Amino acid sequence: MTPDLSREQSVKNAATAAVPAALADLGALVRIPSIAFPGFEPAEVRRSAEAVAALAEGLGIFDTVEIRDAAIPGTDERGMPAVLASRAARNGRPTILLYAHHDVQPIGDESLWESPPFEPTVRGGRLYGRGAADDKAGVMAHIGALRAFTEAVGSDFDLGVALFIEGEEEAGSRSFAQFLSDNADALRADVIVVADSGNWDDKTPALTVSLRGNARFTLGIRTLEHASHSGMFGGAVPDAMMATVTLLATLWDADGGVAVEGLLERDAATPEYTEATLRDEAGLPDGVSPIGDGTILSRIWNKPSITITGIDAPTVVNASNTLTPEVTVVISARVAPGQTASEAFAAVEAHLRAHAPFGAELTFRDVDFGDGFLVDTSGWAVATAREALHGGYGVEPVDLGVGGSIPFIADLVREFPAAQILVTGVEDPHARAHSPNESLHLDTFRHALVSEALLLEKLDSRAI
Ligand SMILES: [Zn+2]
Repeated sequence: MTPDLSREQSVKNAATAAVPAALADLGALVRIPSIAFPGFEPAEVRRSAEAVAALAEGLGIFDTVEIRDAAIPGTDERGMPAVLASRAARNGRPTILLYAHHDVQPIGDESLWESPPFEPTVRGGRLYGRGAADDKAGVMAHIGALRAFTEAVGSDFDLGVALFIEGEEEAGSRSFAQFLSDNADALRADVIVVADSGNWDDKTPALTVSLRGNARFTLGIRTLEHASHSGMFGGAVPDAMMATVTLLATLWDADGGVAVEGLLERDAATPEYTEATLRDEAGLPDGVSPIGDGTILSRIWNKPSITITGIDAPTVVNASNTLTPEVTVVISARVAPGQTASEAFAAVEAHLRAHAPFGAELTFRDVDFGDGFLVDTSGWAVATAREALHGGYGVEPVDLGVGGSIPFIADLVREFPAAQILVTGVEDPHARAHSPNESLHLDTFRHALVSEALLLEKLDSRAI
């Protein structure tokens, strides 16, 4: 079968022409502060869901478009509103599920923003604003690609499409698994596109083929029944801060690599990435050395890391000459793809118990797991996606590992084991998702939208 070049070309043209309207719609979404965290206004998340639902409705291709939520298991709460739209496949064509999320991270310190976070602003070829990249641009890549595809081929196409735009990804996707099982029939697909990741750089597309997992927990370290004067007993009894500092230091070797037995590494080649690029992208000053060993990307993609992300101890203003009885820390371990988060946690817990100094009493609570992910790159959907990315960007895509986690992917794999999962995205290394001055590279967005429209075209022409 030879591809229908004229149809492909007309989809590509329509996709290029669809970019300005998609960016205008993106700007309108960015103006809605849809933060799903506790303490923020949930009505804004609903307003954002309604805006996305209206965009989906406006495509005129779905059998149903709904705003739905699901129960949060183990509580009497419900999750944040998601948009679910679907259209059945016909004539033996596949169904594609397009995922993104319409909620955003809180803004952090507003004084660090160079333009107001909820005021979409273009400077230097980038669109600035909270959610401009993560992940309202993912939402608009889907909507824009569907709009362009429909414009080019008409609304009477055979491809099945499910659109699932979540409303609580940044807040931990607490009702996600329940939502999948409640709506399994509407969501079931041959190919799932998760548009919530990044690209190699602002010219080179990527397919994300591995993600690290995450094991996060709160550790209490207690050495004394109560606080006492450091002049009375200091030097004879251990305080909790001393035990904490001593214990935590055992987690890393002298190079800063993780020194916990039982945490695995994945053995896989990584592309060239220089220390100078690392310094530039991570903001690492010249006088500070990188940590770990092996290629830089293997440290980020394929090996575990451990970070102390919070500590409760007396603050500097409250410092007095007192032996602290207990310290609490939050430990976040990134887990190499291929190892489950619960196995990794068991290794870290065993390490901490074995190294607790002076018999310090340890407690573990609020343990939270997100499993990593490895794509089977031999599937036909991966090959088709690579062709579409090449067509949209004009450059061969790179297989990307990601040091972060998208824990809900494990839920997708569990609920839909037969689906092929493609992790794509609209971000580039300078997008600063989750940080002040988050932005979208406009050329990347255009290329991503065109690529996705081409993917729809290819799948619509393919028998399963
Ligand atoms: Zn995201």
